Amino acid sequence: MLYTGRYHIEVIPGVHWVRSVVGCNCWLVVEPGNSIVIDTGLPGNARRIVNYAKQLGVSAISHIILTHADIDHAGSASELKSLTGAKIAVHTIEAHYMTTRTELPFPFCWVSRLIPRLSRFARFTPDILLDESDSVGGLRVVHTPGHTPGSICLLKKGESIFTGDALRTHARDKLLTPSRPTAMDMPRAMDSMKKIAALDFTSLFGGHGPPVISKASAKLRDIVANLPCCQV
Ligand SMILES: [Zn+2]
Repeated sequence: MLYTGRYHIEVIPGVHWVRSVVGCNCWLVVEPGNSIVIDTGLPGNARRIVNYAKQLGVSAISHIILTHADIDHAGSASELKSLTGAKIAVHTIEAHYMTTRTELPFPFCWVSRLIPRLSRFARFTPDILLDESDSVGGLRVVHTPGHTPGSICLLKKGESIFTGDALRTHARDKLLTPSRPTAMDMPRAMDSMKKIAALDFTSLFGGHGPPVISKASAKLRDIVANLPCCQV
């Protein structure tokens, strides 16, 4: 992990962890010609993301990619777009929940049950609708439904993957398998985990928890190989 300043965390070259964002992990991917924000946190975080980029010397944010429509990931997207003019990109299926007042069907999610307002936030119309294998800058879209119907991962082949809540990690830098209370469709979430495990990457950046910086795809393949359903 590269600490490039008091508040700057460049996890690997070109990938910044905007730790001041509250709600989920917010990643700023800086590449030639593009500066891409992946997930924005709860409402009220946009200014923090802009300030981080400014302190880094990044003058413009080109894209905001949302891994899914939950408020802890999409809550500041509208405000961030207003501040920066960045284009918002989401999976085609997930766009419906961001554009309309329709709430994600979350019958098993304890968070949504306990705090219903967590599924309500300022709606907006995405600028770019994504499907499998589309690219934004150097990031390729991988559709990984289960947590929500339009959840996506973003893959920089051979380097890194950003998984949103399709895969999370915990405090010990370890990967977590999908859990029933947070997955709308558990069988699809497990299938998506296997799909991710078949990809080639070194570092994994989840929607919550610290990044897995090295040998992440090998670690995930180990987990998948030892799942009861996958043992020969
Ligand atoms: Zn989520």
